[in-house]
Amino acid sequence: MSNLRRGFKTWCENAAASYRRDLALGRDAALDPLILARHLRIVVWTPEQVPGIKGDVVTHLTVTDADSWDAVTIQSHGVTAIVLNSAPDIGRRNNSLAHELSHIILEHEPAHVFHTPDGHMLMNEYNAVHEEEANCLAGTLLVPREALLQAIRLGLNDSRMASHFGVSPQLLRMRRNVTGVDRQLSYSRG
Ligand SMILES: [Zn+2]
Repeated sequence: MSNLRRGFKTWCENAAASYRRDLALGRDAALDPLILARHLRIVVWTPEQVPGIKGDVVTHLTVTDADSWDAVTIQSHGVTAIVLNSAPDIGRRNNSLAHELSHIILEHEPAHVFHTPDGHMLMNEYNAVHEEEANCLAGTLLVPREALLQAIRLGLNDSRMASHFGVSPQLLRMRRNVTGVDRQLSYSRG
């Protein structure tokens, strides 16, 4: 059961098209979320790049516990930054970054905020509706419906499409499902 409000998916498609225009990308082009972050003036750090971070925390985040987190948004001294785990593959990294950017674009208020002793504010818990919205916007930013339709019409298989858009095969399949593109194509083929 979806919690998305009426018209939200269309809003996401329009946002995906409008950011591509802003970045002078074609409608069917892949969108690198690092470039979108720069456009939105949001800093993206690896754990090592976080100012003042302690060596044992870096080791914890990149070695000991590298599998347990993807990305976290920090507000620190008026700067919004996303700390992105560099361990996962590019598809998962792009999805995690697009997801965090989506919370920021949608101006979601976090459900819980954590303050670290050195004055960073971590925002990584949101309510279920906001999570669903961020997942929807992230998937749409990375794989807009029209671009997906075009790629399928060109005869690309799922793995070619996933690498074109820089996403995981799972995200690609999820977009095929939620956008209904296959249904549309089978109708138009009669
Ligand atoms: Zn989230």
